[in-house]
Amino acid sequence: MIFLKTNDEIELLRASNLLVGKTLAEIAKVIKPGVTTKELDRVAEEFIRDNGAVPTFKGFPSPYGEPFPASICTSVNEQVVHGIPGDVVLKEGDIVSVDCGTCMNGFCGDSAYTFCVGEVAEDVRNLLKVTKEALYIGIENAVQGKRLGDIGYAIQQYCESRSYGVVREFVGHGIGKEMHEDPQVPNYGRRGTGAMMKRGLCIAIEPMITLGDRHVVMEGDGWSVRTKDRKCAAHFEHTIAVSAGKADILSSFEFVEEVLGDQAI
Ligand code: MG
Ligand code: MG
Repeated sequence: MIFLKTNDEIELLRASNLLVGKTLAEIAKVIKPGVTTKELDRVAEEFIRDNGAVPTFKGFPSPYGEPFPASICTSVNEQVVHGIPGDVVLKEGDIVSVDCGTCMNGFCGDSAYTFCVGEVAEDVRNLLKVTKEALYIGIENAVQGKRLGDIGYAIQQYCESRSYGVVREFVGHGIGKEMHEDPQVPNYGRRGTGAMMKRGLCIAIEPMITLGDRHVVMEGDGWSVRTKDRKCAAHFEHTIAVSAGKADILSSFEFVEEVLGDQAI
């Protein structure tokens, strides 16, 4: 069942999502060679709680076993999503996708950004650039009167025409009081299919794009998803509200990109 949001609810979603944007910026400040992903998680959890919110990922139930043990997901290089922060030390040339979720005043925020660690190979940097562009192309298609398939079609076309892989097994989603609500928002699909979007529909759009083949496998920890061929993957995510014209982007990369400066993708 799809819950359309009132203007007041959209403002609550915006507040939670802006906190996610600011949390990603705190993480951006500490990403460098030599830092562990566990340290990124510590920074994120502290910042979220200091701002009166709760990290929604912590304790998130899994259909396969243990609940998620950390406040953010950190997916390094061939990891696509749901990487568990730990003792992995980031090194020059790595990429790390950081996915962050908050709950503040009863409403959820959800946004992700893929960071470069120092200098990164040009083909990998291009993967990040195309994934971020694909996110905004998806958002351009999230308007009242269009259908959900229009978003997926646009993202898929943009990425596959450039020979990147589009992950099918994980998708975007409705968002509100729950982090994952209906509808599902795939990054692939056919134009003119799926539910028609209405004003007040709030969704997270999150292309997961690979440098090689699109197929993924789950690692032994029951959470981390990586590419089967171990080529790099990128993940960018915004939470948006559908309106009559251009979608209202509720999360923000502005804070992150202020930290990254001319190193931003
Ligand atoms: Mg997310
Ligand atoms: Mg999400």
